[in-house]
Amino acid sequence: MYEALITSALDSARRAEEMGMRRNQIILSCKVSGVQDLISVYRELAKRSDYALHLGLTEAGMGTKGTVASATALSILLQEGIGDTIRVSLTPQPGEARTQEVVIASEILQALGLRNFVPSVTACPGCGRTTSTTFQELAKQIDDFLRAQMPVWREQYPGVEGLKVAVMGCIVNGPGESKHADIGISLPGSGEAPAAPVFIDGEKD
Ligand code: SF4
Repeated sequence: MYEALITSALDSARRAEEMGMRRNQIILSCKVSGVQDLISVYRELAKRSDYALHLGLTEAGMGTKGTVASATALSILLQEGIGDTIRVSLTPQPGEARTQEVVIASEILQALGLRNFVPSVTACPGCGRTTSTTFQELAKQIDDFLRAQMPVWREQYPGVEGLKVAVMGCIVNGPGESKHADIGISLPGSGEAPAAPVFIDGEKD
């Protein structure tokens, strides 16, 4: 099956060139629905040609399953330098926006450090030291706010998409992570003094 897919893609590209298309006008897509199949096919395709490659795990599924499968397959290939364009193919939940595919594709590129689209928020996941939902609410509000501002900020502040923000939940990890971010806040954990220091560029504000 792998060989049939690869041979077909390469033959089609060769034929397109014979008919007058330039090499840089051609992008090969050999999507399959299995993670290991996709990785094997694209590794071989990259070995045997220098055409631009479009990556995507087709029919990846719904929700978490489709997201994890797409991120796994695409990340392995992208990390090896394989792939020039990507698509995430998710079956939306009833009523869910199709834009979720784009959000996940952007997150994959951002997580790999290949492209930044929005400031990244490092957030406390919660543990025995957290006794309220404040850290969750604050992290969500900040994340939503940053995303909402991007259409304007992208024009006003070039490079703002590389900003790192931290919302941390206790004195144990809060100040350290906050200092590593461009802007960070360290909320008090259970039993700690009710203080929430803010750090800007590593310095306590
Ligand atoms: S930041 Fe503090 S409260 Fe949050 S998970 Fe880490 S140790 Fe727990």
